[in-house]
Amino acid sequence: MSDQGSWARFERLRNLLLVLTAAWLPAVLLAAWWIDGRSGRVPQVLVGLVLVWTLAIAGVGLRLATWLCPRCGKPFFKRYGLRTFGERCPHCGLPYGSGG
Ligand SMILES: [Zn+2]
Repeated sequence: MSDQGSWARFERLRNLLLVLTAAWLPAVLLAAWWIDGRSGRVPQVLVGLVLVWTLAIAGVGLRLATWLCPRCGKPFFKRYGLRTFGERCPHCGLPYGSGG
């Protein structure tokens, strides 16, 4: 995969995470309202929805947090076991979003 392709994939995942996170509570409330109107209790379907949705958020978030630099292949947001939020790879200095 090219560097630009790697960043494009990163940005798609980041956007997916934003949508999943923003839509989580409204979706759960809507599902609860819809299901409650039909049965009067919270069924396993809602519990499953919340669990799957939460795991999806965690999975995408973990994938982004452990994103590898397209140039050096080391974690882009981590150095010496500590999380970094810089605009550059802490290992090789590659700017965020640029080609190798
Ligand atoms: Zn790097």
